[in-house]
Amino acid sequence: MDKNQEYSITIEDMTTDGEGIGKTDGFPLFVKDTVIGDTVRVKTVKIKKNYGYARLTEVLSPSKDRVVPACPVARQCGGCSLQAMSYEAQLEFKRRKIEGNLARIGGFQDISIPPVIGMEHPWRYRNKAQIPFGRDRSGNTIAGFYASRTHSIIPCTDCLLSPEINQEILRTVLEFMEEYHIPAYNEEDRSGILRHLLIRSGFSSGEIMVCAVINAERLPHSRAFVESLRHISGITTIVVNSNCENTNVILGEQETVLFGPGFIRDSIGSLNFHISSKSFFQVNPRQTERLYSLALEYAGLTGSETVWDLYCGIGTISLFLASAAKKVYGVEIVPEAIENARENARLNHLSNTEFFVGRAEEVLPAWYREHGEHADVIVVDPPRKGCDRVLLDTIVEMSPSRLVYVSCDSATLARDLKYLCERGFSLERVQGVDQFGWSVHVESCVLLERVSNRKADSYV
Ligand code: SAH
Repeated sequence: MDKNQEYSITIEDMTTDGEGIGKTDGFPLFVKDTVIGDTVRVKTVKIKKNYGYARLTEVLSPSKDRVVPACPVARQCGGCSLQAMSYEAQLEFKRRKIEGNLARIGGFQDISIPPVIGMEHPWRYRNKAQIPFGRDRSGNTIAGFYASRTHSIIPCTDCLLSPEINQEILRTVLEFMEEYHIPAYNEEDRSGILRHLLIRSGFSSGEIMVCAVINAERLPHSRAFVESLRHISGITTIVVNSNCENTNVILGEQETVLFGPGFIRDSIGSLNFHISSKSFFQVNPRQTERLYSLALEYAGLTGSETVWDLYCGIGTISLFLASAAKKVYGVEIVPEAIENARENARLNHLSNTEFFVGRAEEVLPAWYREHGEHADVIVVDPPRKGCDRVLLDTIVEMSPSRLVYVSCDSATLARDLKYLCERGFSLERVQGVDQFGWSVHVESCVLLERVSNRKADSYV
């Protein structure tokens, strides 16, 4: 097997990253932009010992699930990896991913996972866009998205996952830069000024924040910048963030509010939030509401419960649960997120919450050792690597009647569920919710019950 060879293959499977897998003489090739069921012509680009990577050159016979990508830069952009797959097929792909991981890794063989809850309109669902600026080969200023695994910018002012109004905002900023000779930042020699534009939109409030991230202390002609933008419908605040570091981190420390309050408002369900440039906030608020409503339903609260929300971020789940519980404790490792959580609790007049900064696997065991208090319900929403063993052991010891596991990675979810179900819990419900259409990611919400409460119709 060599590089630069052409083959015709049929795509039989897909990696969890969304690359199609087809075989030639039993040798697997991974091919981006293909869909299960496609027969395609490919050219090998990299050959390893047991597998290789190839580039799609022609679709010979399309899969029934293949669609024409709606976005003209879908193949170059590093953002969406499933644009050639119909949305229905994506939801089924995600459902099978959860089911497969639970069976293979968790040993839950006989459970059937219901259809993933999708969006009615899987476009323009993101409330946050971070657009890098640069120059093309002819020296023109461009705004767009990074190509897959690189920092070369694909010009694009209309990401189909972001609100339409962003086009007008980007056009206005590009015109401002041209008129006032504001150069885009150049990563190589660290010259130039405008690095990124961060646009955040409150989908329920209609408020928009524009934040210019610059490689300077001050934005030249900032008054003209504000004048050019403030009449665009919805913009309620304009901010400049100064980042003069040689870093991939987008935002710097120092910030100047040029217009408006420096934050936007938004809500999820009946909860209100103030969102500044640096606040954490779920990027798909509508699907987040569905996901967290499920967590609330699974928690089965009656008003008398003590609840822990571990990996609580800005406390969205904690606050969702607080009005139905006696007390909610939240634990999160990022101090700024806990500040947000406390502010959010105040803003929503929820006084029965308490938040701790620290690692869940340290805070919870220490609390339990000191207070010996059991929890009625525990919710976890960990990052992709899942929960720490020490935390799982403490949960087993604390023996809550219900455990709600919100997960962004069904492989680590399956590993943790196996561990818990071997130690006194039973798997009752599993539901996927799609927060990120056209990507391979899927969120799951799972209910475990302590075995003594186990119902006759449980899965295992
Ligand atoms: N439910 C949250 C989001 C959870 S995302 C919300 O509504 O905002 C996972 C969170 O876990 C992140 O905020 C991350 O900072 C935090 N985290 C990562 N490792 C952690 C640990 N060991 N202990 C506590 N929190 C952790």
